[in-house]
Amino acid sequence: MKYSQLFPKTLKQAPSGAESINHQLLVRGGFIDQLFAGSWTLLPLGLKVVTKINQIIREELNSSGAQEMQMPLLHPREIWDQTGRWSNKDVQQIMYQFKDIHGREFGLSFTHEEIVMNLLGKFVKSYKDLPLKLYQFSTKFRNELRAKSGILRGREFLMKDLYSAHVSEEDMYIYYEDVKKVYLKIFQRMGLDTKIVEASGGVFTDKNSHEFQVLTEVGEDTIYYCTQCDFAENKEIYQDREGSKCPRCSNKIEEANSIEVGNIFPLGTKYSKDMKVFYTDENGKEQLIWFASYGIGPTRVLGTLVEIYHDERGIIWPESVAPYQVYLVGLDLEGERVKGEAERVYKLLQAEGVEVLFDDRVGVSAGEKFADADLIGIPYRVVISKKTHSTSSGQAKDKLEVKKRDEKNTHFVSFKGLISLLKDS
Ligand code: ATP
Ligand code: MG
Repeated sequence: MKYSQLFPKTLKQAPSGAESINHQLLVRGGFIDQLFAGSWTLLPLGLKVVTKINQIIREELNSSGAQEMQMPLLHPREIWDQTGRWSNKDVQQIMYQFKDIHGREFGLSFTHEEIVMNLLGKFVKSYKDLPLKLYQFSTKFRNELRAKSGILRGREFLMKDLYSAHVSEEDMYIYYEDVKKVYLKIFQRMGLDTKIVEASGGVFTDKNSHEFQVLTEVGEDTIYYCTQCDFAENKEIYQDREGSKCPRCSNKIEEANSIEVGNIFPLGTKYSKDMKVFYTDENGKEQLIWFASYGIGPTRVLGTLVEIYHDERGIIWPESVAPYQVYLVGLDLEGERVKGEAERVYKLLQAEGVEVLFDDRVGVSAGEKFADADLIGIPYRVVISKKTHSTSSGQAKDKLEVKKRDEKNTHFVSFKGLISLLKDS
């Protein structure tokens, strides 16, 4: 991609009222745009990052035996009446509900348990059809009271939601524990350290759920965790405890702010019972299906990554989710020779399968280009200029000036050297 073609360009200033770092940097860098509070466009650069986040999730879920599908977002009231959630006061706080012109009631999806259970009712007959692990990436709508914090809290946002169905509680918990490990790996591949925190089930279940929390001062959540063992609880359930020592190992408990990037729920048989969804066991007897759900918010992950990985000049993307690997800066492009050389390197990198954003602007200062490189935060900056191609002996040096986004110093490498640098990382 050539920067001259990229939509849109970077902004010098953060939009007024943008309080959080992710809001400021993602908007200035041209990753996202706000339509109204809590409603965002993923611009080409932002969509590229989210696509990489999603691909990591997809790869790990597929290897856990899950299958991807896609469900509707517009839901008729009747299906939500089967579990009573349509009329639940807490649900009504966040679910967009409305009537069409004929008076028929609909809601916009804020989650999909009812829809999945309806599918299971149609297709699962016997124990031989289970277990099932089904997931999707889709938009969720929630009428969030406060939609600040940039893209961390949207009224319309992206969620990966996975649902699993089982013959027994035991089988459900085996997969539930698998997903814990899978989630840790997913987040770790994106560069996020997460803590597994016990929480209540909210509007989903009476059972406790588990949140995946990234510790950061700017997080809206408060968690309590043991400094020695892996005990961790969110504020809601921790405040009922007595004393300030770990209930498991008596060591010190710390309080921290954090961002919830994932949440998993062992729902049990509540939904199959309400919606009368059974399978036939080996003895021909009807049994309730055991059910669990698992969410990750890719757009919240996008914002979380920026909160964790930035400096005063801009974003510093982890390589696994960066929109491009190389920001190729062409300087002195008024000169035909340097321009030709920059174009040549751009094509060679692409031929090697490297994702390159080529700053091909003519008449823009080096300082401005470097500032944009830092703001956008691509892991490697490669400069081609008169200097890198000076010809004391009449021959180009064939050296590229490389700098990693998170390092101070530049160094010179050959094209081959650059390729092995990129492939090794
Ligand atoms: P929160 O407590 O932050 O409101 P939640 O517990 O209601 O979130 P879940 O229903 O568990 O959220 O949703 C699963 C995942 O979807 C969350 O872990 C988070 O990553 C993401 N998510 C939830 N609400 C939002 C939102 N309003 N904007 C962006 N992502 C969200
Ligand atoms: Mg949650």
